Amino acid sequence: MTTTTADDVDQGVDIDQVLADVADVARPCAEDGEVKAYIADLAGMEPGNFAICVTELDGETHAMGDLDIRFSIQSISKVLALVLAMRKVGEGVGVQEQLWRRVGREPSGDPFNSLVQLEREQGVPRNPLINAGALIVDDVLLDHCADPKGELLTLASELAGEELTISEEVARVEEDTSARNRAIANLMLSFDNLHHTVDEVLDVYAHQCAIEMSAAQLARAFRFLANDGVDPATDRRILHPDLARRVAAIMLTCGTYDAAGEFAYSIGLPCKSGVCGAIVALAPKQAAICVWSPPLDDKGNSLAGRVALHELSDRLDLSVFKGPESAL
Ligand code: GLN
Repeated sequence: MTTTTADDVDQGVDIDQVLADVADVARPCAEDGEVKAYIADLAGMEPGNFAICVTELDGETHAMGDLDIRFSIQSISKVLALVLAMRKVGEGVGVQEQLWRRVGREPSGDPFNSLVQLEREQGVPRNPLINAGALIVDDVLLDHCADPKGELLTLASELAGEELTISEEVARVEEDTSARNRAIANLMLSFDNLHHTVDEVLDVYAHQCAIEMSAAQLARAFRFLANDGVDPATDRRILHPDLARRVAAIMLTCGTYDAAGEFAYSIGLPCKSGVCGAIVALAPKQAAICVWSPPLDDKGNSLAGRVALHELSDRLDLSVFKGPESAL
C-alpha cells in the first residue's frame, strides 16, 4: 500500500518517510491518553494501535500502521448522517427549512455531550457534529428514510468501496449507556424540536456510532468531501459542491468539539474526530487523511492523532490557509 511516486520524488518529498517520522513523534504521546473502555473491549482494540492513511483523490495511498483493523466509527458517523440528510432535503430551501431551522452552525465551545446550551437556546443545538445536533439530523433522516440505519450503512459502504457492517454489540452498549443522550433528546422534545420518539432517534444514533470501519476505509470514504462532493473512485456525485464545501467548513469549526479552535490553529484542516480514537481530515482537492490511535485527551479527541495531524500538516504544508500548493 505504501508507495512513493515519481511525482513525489520530483518534488523532493518522500511522503512515506514523512509518515514514518510523524509516527515517531506522535506515537509516544498516546501514553498520556485514555481509551474509551467499552469500545476497546468490544472491538479488541489496543491502546498501542496506530495508523496513518493518506489517500489522494487519484487513489494513490501513503499509509503505515494498523490500517485494516475495523473499529466503531462513533462520532465520525455524524458527518455521514449530515451528508445523507442533506441529500434527502436537497440544497437551497430544503436544507434551510428542514435542517438549519432546527440546528445551528456555530462551534459550541462545550463538550460533545453537554446539555448546558440547549436549555438556554430553546432546544436548538449549536451544530450537527455535537451529540444534540446529530440527534436532530437523525430525526430528519427518520422524516425521509424508511430505514435510516440501512441507508447510512449503504452510503458508508459505497464510499468505502467495501461492504461494511454495524456492530450490534456496540450499538447495544451505546443504548445501555445513553442516559445523557436520552436527556438531550428529551430536552429537545420538550422544545418541540424532535418529530419522532426519543427511542427511535437514539436507535438510529446508536447504530450509526457502531458502523465499523478501518483507517484505510475512512480515508477512502471521505475523499468526496475533498473533491467538491464527487467520489473520485466512482465519479458519483454524493453532494452538491456548495454543500460539500459547507460540510467541510462545519468540520473545521465544529468537528473536534471544544478543541476546534486549537485544531484549526495547529492543523488548519477540516477534521472530524470520534471517541474510537480516529480523526479524519480533509486536504481539499488533494486527499483525505485518517489517523487512528485510541487513547483520548480530555476533550475526547485522539491525543496521538492530533499530534500526528499537526506534524503531517506542517511537514506537507497542507493547511487550507496556505492555498492550493502543497507537497502532495
Ligand atoms: N457514542 C458516543 C456518544 O454518543 C459518540 C461520541 C463521540 O465519538 N464523540 O457519547
